[in-house]
Amino acid sequence: MSLPNLAIDPARLWDTIMDTAKIGGTAKGGIKRLTLTELDAEVRRWFIAACEEAGCTVTIDDMGNIFARRPGRDNSLPPIAIGSHLDTQPTGGKYDGIIGVLSGLELLRTLRDAGYETTHPIEVIDWTNEEGSRFAPAMLSSGVFGGQFTRDWAYAREDRDGVRFGDALTEIGFVGEEPCGQHPLAAHFELHIEQGPILEAEDRVIGVVTGVQGMRWYEVTVTGNDSHAGSTPMPLRHDALLAAARMIEAVHQIAIRNAPDAVGTVGLIEARPNSRNVIPGEVFFTVDFRHPDDAVLASMEQALHAALSGIAEASAVTHAVSCIWNSPAVRFDAECIGAVRHAAEQGGFPHRDIISGAGHDSAYVAAVAPTSMIFVPCARGISHNELESAEPEHVAAGANVLLQAVLAMDSTLVERARA
Ligand SMILES: [Zn+2]
Repeated sequence: MSLPNLAIDPARLWDTIMDTAKIGGTAKGGIKRLTLTELDAEVRRWFIAACEEAGCTVTIDDMGNIFARRPGRDNSLPPIAIGSHLDTQPTGGKYDGIIGVLSGLELLRTLRDAGYETTHPIEVIDWTNEEGSRFAPAMLSSGVFGGQFTRDWAYAREDRDGVRFGDALTEIGFVGEEPCGQHPLAAHFELHIEQGPILEAEDRVIGVVTGVQGMRWYEVTVTGNDSHAGSTPMPLRHDALLAAARMIEAVHQIAIRNAPDAVGTVGLIEARPNSRNVIPGEVFFTVDFRHPDDAVLASMEQALHAALSGIAEASAVTHAVSCIWNSPAVRFDAECIGAVRHAAEQGGFPHRDIISGAGHDSAYVAAVAPTSMIFVPCARGISHNELESAEPEHVAAGANVLLQAVLAMDSTLVERARA
């Protein structure tokens, strides 16, 4: 299939990214624009005005998700959507989520300037609270949209000051009338920085994202006996920290045994009483396992239980472990993936298939609409950091792939309906 001779305006896209980065911009060149704050409201109002200027009508649902709609030839059809998020981490960068929404805006402007008419309406979506930094969990509103959470449960989430999500949403004036999830989409595409080092290391410009890996989080408490570091002989100790050290090594080995796709991390540890001359009596630590295949994750979980039990017994301590989060692996839609891959090939961009290591709005939207994602490199894989950086030509390449994938999907769906 040949693709329409259309391209986005790279300078206009880059200027838009840099201009909006001033809303919540930090001295170190990042953005602090936490969800449902006045700064979030400011960028939302800017986004709505920019989309209306590009010929869109805007609706908002009762989770504050914003849908900017450019009409198509047949407005009885569900829209082809482009979505991501404009909220950031407290020390966020200028690109995470933002390039996905602003590339959508650039696509609207490109279609307007060319007078190009799609058959399906096109919508650009700003999903509320992707980051989960102020209100946990992450991807809260795309999660309600995709049926993962109920609206009322989401409304009851509280930030550290005890402010409810629902009240914060009301406060900034973004409770829309449409019930979240009552908004059929023909397809959903998301452009995002990779947030990992693979594309940069391989000199590729486009990641054709085929899915999001499964994630499981555990909490482990190891219990031994506090006692004097000088007067307790080695064979008589019940050292919870020593046992935990062996367990951490076991977590590492379980991930290594399931290489190359598995990762395992102990990122948080607390030892008590945490005193230099006391044998630690209790240790708490977390485990984060990820893999693209849920069956492998299940076997990693079994291996974790076996390793922890064996080590606890050998170390003369007891332990308790619980799984506190299980996010299954997501496989994106084959047709959407194909549209992205074809657009990357036709554009002459070096590309590879890739699985997302991080969660994204698209992971939840995929439950209710054919979905896929496009990754572009970010410097040294750094994100959730003010140093986050992406090359203008990579962002432009991603936006052009997005444009062509959306237009190809529009044609494909129309041809199928005719056949
Ligand atoms: Zn993001």
